[in-house]
Amino acid sequence: MSVGPRLVLATHNKGKLRELRELLRGQVPGLDVDTQVVDASAVGAPDVVEDQVTFQGNALLKARAVTAATGLIAIADDSGLAVDVLGGSPGIFSARWAGRHGDDQANIDLLLAQLGDISDEHRGASFICAAALATPEGFVAVELGHLPGTLLRERRGNGGFGYDPILQPEGYEISVAELSSEEKNAISHRGRAFRGLLPQIVKALAEQEGK
Ligand code: IMP
Repeated sequence: MSVGPRLVLATHNKGKLRELRELLRGQVPGLDVDTQVVDASAVGAPDVVEDQVTFQGNALLKARAVTAATGLIAIADDSGLAVDVLGGSPGIFSARWAGRHGDDQANIDLLLAQLGDISDEHRGASFICAAALATPEGFVAVELGHLPGTLLRERRGNGGFGYDPILQPEGYEISVAELSSEEKNAISHRGRAFRGLLPQIVKALAEQEGK
């Protein structure tokens, strides 16, 4: 049985790592998710400049770079918000829509101002996530997950991050920021993309164990 890290998630976000560990727990015989599924900082994986123009492209780019640098199976994700009336923007520019990377408050303020005159029936938007897998042997796979909903006119709730306070998921009367993290994971774009990729992850780990 192998010891040491076996799978690396190309992120420094501990929340994403926790989510992936829970998804993989009990799925692969012999895999200790708490010690063998790690994030980029645990194995000194490099930060990658995301210069692709799609979520899939950026997720694949990161997964390939991290498997090449570490020799481990790598998973990466890229995500954002796609607004119908903006033709899918902010899209890959979601984190820096207002100009400064990661300024969630400014991003929301700008988007709400841009959509000020748009009626409720035209405020459709989705969170989108691409999750990618790359192995040292050169196998790659990518899955997309969506969380469709409607953009609110003002913020609601304190949970989550990014645009969560202004997206009301389809079938709900509350914003994503008002869901518990378990509720969000169950329906989120990231949860769906990771779950879609799960069979490929399990297969890659089983083949690695057989070596
Ligand atoms: P990244 O894929 O983690 O780099 O996310 C890119 C950007 O998309 C974030 O900075 C957020 O603005 C937005 N975003 C991605 N996923 C979510 C989410 O689950 N909730 C809210 N915003 C999100």
